[in-house]
Amino acid sequence: MTLALGCIADDYTGASDLANTLTRCGLRTVQTIGVPAADLALPEVDAVVVSLKSRSIEADLAVTRSRSAEKWLRERGARHVLFKICSTFDSTDAGNIGPVMDALRADSGDAIVLVTPAFPETGRTVYQGNLFVGAVPLNESPLKDHPLNPMHDSNLVRVLARQSRTRIGLVDLADIARGAEAVRARLAQLSGQGFGAVIADAVFERDLETIGQVALDHRVSVGASGLGLGLARALVAAGNVKSLAADPISNAPVGGPAACLAGSCSQATLQQIARAEQAMPVLHLDPDQVIAGNGESRRALAWARERLQEGPILIASSSTPEEVAALQLRHGRDAAGHAIEQAMADIAEGLVQSGVRRLVVAGGETSGAVVDRLGIPGFLVGAEIAAGVPVLRTVGVNGGDMLLALKSGNFGGPEFFSDALKLMR
Ligand code: ADP
Repeated sequence: MTLALGCIADDYTGASDLANTLTRCGLRTVQTIGVPAADLALPEVDAVVVSLKSRSIEADLAVTRSRSAEKWLRERGARHVLFKICSTFDSTDAGNIGPVMDALRADSGDAIVLVTPAFPETGRTVYQGNLFVGAVPLNESPLKDHPLNPMHDSNLVRVLARQSRTRIGLVDLADIARGAEAVRARLAQLSGQGFGAVIADAVFERDLETIGQVALDHRVSVGASGLGLGLARALVAAGNVKSLAADPISNAPVGGPAACLAGSCSQATLQQIARAEQAMPVLHLDPDQVIAGNGESRRALAWARERLQEGPILIASSSTPEEVAALQLRHGRDAAGHAIEQAMADIAEGLVQSGVRRLVVAGGETSGAVVDRLGIPGFLVGAEIAAGVPVLRTVGVNGGDMLLALKSGNFGGPEFFSDALKLMR
């Protein structure tokens, strides 16, 4: 296998977003959960996104994990590796973007690294090195109050300089607008002056296409899904990807019983559950019983097993904002959230043991808990059910493929559960 593109993502949902973007651009893409085992059998793909949880951990650990991900990707022929960060440049002065970039740069032997978190389709643009979130600079956006990584400086040249050991320069929009050759010339000049990385301005997708084209001359780049888009389009334009044309293995139906789990309490999910009541049996868990550890998961599984052979079912812990607030007051927010996530993971495990091969999960944290519990090494990214939510086919799971859909709370239309199951055969 020779990967056209290897990616290391610093969190799971960012990894899914990138994998979905690459797939939409025409790259066959697998997302792995953590650095895969050396013997993971992969289908023939163009790109692999290794998902780490390294955004807010200690910098040394983030470097070690990113390095082992890079090694795995290079061993599979990846010529270029994108270190995928958040489009809001989520990080503190201690890292982890700078330290990981420095390490990957050293390993790759690149003289200079292109860095841009721009992703115009989600309102993230960079001008004169300043990151904008919609109409406001980063330090005026809600990210200034982020609980883990508050962002008080919108000038990314300064932000990255505080984290990195190399000098950080700027390739501004005027250079980008002049095209790939102008950018190459500017990079050569900056590299000659001792700069080891640059923030690249990007306001429109065409800017990311230019940056992607130039980045492919290098072994490493750093950016969000927007840079993934630029790299993917450049690879497609250069004829460096295999065709996405229907592959009989990856489209083969998996069959078997189907189930849905909802742990998100978002407006959208509550509406989707209400709609699902008209299409399938729905069980509402009693969150107090879940937290008390009174066998609520066992009861839910027994309920499900009686119905699974007749058609899909939905099990939900979700409740209204008032009920969530009251529950959190009684038990504490983290304790309540964690207990319910673990109950959802128990139920998912029991459902799979009962033969479920198709599973839809609503809720970002809930999905993470379920995927970790099921020990799934990775996914091949398939058709989009709703914006940002693809069908996922497991890779490397003993006992045959499963199909999953993992949705963050607010994603999807009112009929999301039925829409997902229609595409998950
Ligand atoms: P979203 O994607 O909407 O943020 P998540 O799954 O990430 O959804 O987060 C929802 C959180 O709420 C989880 O920690 C989940 O365990 C918790 N939760 C689920 N149901 C309830 C409930 N009825 N009351 C309080 N918390 C709940």
